[in-house]
Amino acid sequence: MSKIRAEYIWMDGHQPTQKLRSKTKVFDGPLTSLDDIPDWGFDGSSTMQAIGADSDCMLKPVCFIPDPIRGGDNILVMCEVMNADGSVHPSNTRAHLRELEERHTDQEAWFGIEQEYTLFQGRSPLGWPEGGYPAPQGPFYCGVGADEVFGRDIVEEHLDLCIDAGLEISGINAEVMPGQWEYQIGPLGPLASGDHMWLSRWLLYRISEDYGVSATLHPKPVKGDWNGAGAHTNFSTKAMREPGGITIIEDACEKLSQKHPEHIAVYGAHNEERLTGLHETCSINDFRYGVSDRGASIRIPMQTSKDGYGYLEDRRPSANMDPYLVCAILLETTCD
Ligand code: ADP
Ligand code: MN
Ligand code: MN
Ligand code: MN
Repeated sequence: MSKIRAEYIWMDGHQPTQKLRSKTKVFDGPLTSLDDIPDWGFDGSSTMQAIGADSDCMLKPVCFIPDPIRGGDNILVMCEVMNADGSVHPSNTRAHLRELEERHTDQEAWFGIEQEYTLFQGRSPLGWPEGGYPAPQGPFYCGVGADEVFGRDIVEEHLDLCIDAGLEISGINAEVMPGQWEYQIGPLGPLASGDHMWLSRWLLYRISEDYGVSATLHPKPVKGDWNGAGAHTNFSTKAMREPGGITIIEDACEKLSQKHPEHIAVYGAHNEERLTGLHETCSINDFRYGVSDRGASIRIPMQTSKDGYGYLEDRRPSANMDPYLVCAILLETTCD
């Protein structure tokens, strides 16, 4: 029997945006099933999840993947946070999605999330001149060349790590603002989508450490005439993916139009800085949907319109959104 390291990962109580925390437990390994991975505790008073006098919170493992950084039989363990008595902690946004997924299994909902992020070195985005600005946006999106893209070594390593860990990553691209990148996770069911997204974010932060770089999910990391960072959420149900599904998609858009403020409320903090109506966004105060329209709240992809079935793209969520909350409200609004 050899020693293995299990990295327990959880969302803290930071407001308005919850952050990731993790710590390591050593076991006699290998651990091969979720039942082998015990609950664990942590000091909730240091993570904004408890007060000092009553500080114990519980980590409940909900899924695990191979740890592609430590290698071997080491694992990464995604956890839900529980109170000491086993009840759901208020910061645990996954628990609600768990109920919804169960209630709507027959819908076979899929989510594909486009995670945009910005690499920073010190106070500037990676590759920007110290205290200054690069050339205006234009050549950087999907660019190639040392004068066009910055940080590709990190981005490639992150892609390899996600694949090695078995995460459902489906692509990467350089974004419109230099130093900004995107990867996509999915399509996956609701809980898996959220779990893979949080684990891939943890890997992104972790591997950036090794380069002395930090990845930020702020929706508007640089003020002014620079694109913000979003997390477009592509969504479909079984009925939407079948011939004639376009009517279900349009019906979903009508339902979404009735709940715009409720959605914006859980689509990420500081999103008003990004959803201005400029830079391929719709104003945070408006709701519009349309075919191929990158200035709309919801875009119906060209292919979906042509085929008469497929999926919709909710362009409103910001890069720092919580995928558990976003998947939950999309299910509630369109399927309840
Ligand atoms: P964009 O053209 O907006 O940049 P991307 O290619 O970056 O689109 O992302 C599209 C996402 O949509 C991918 O994550 C993909 O897995 C996901 N996707 C594709 N088909 C479906 C579907 N039927 N339901 C939900 N998501 C889907
Ligand atoms: Mn994309
Ligand atoms: Mn993008
Ligand atoms: Mn998109």
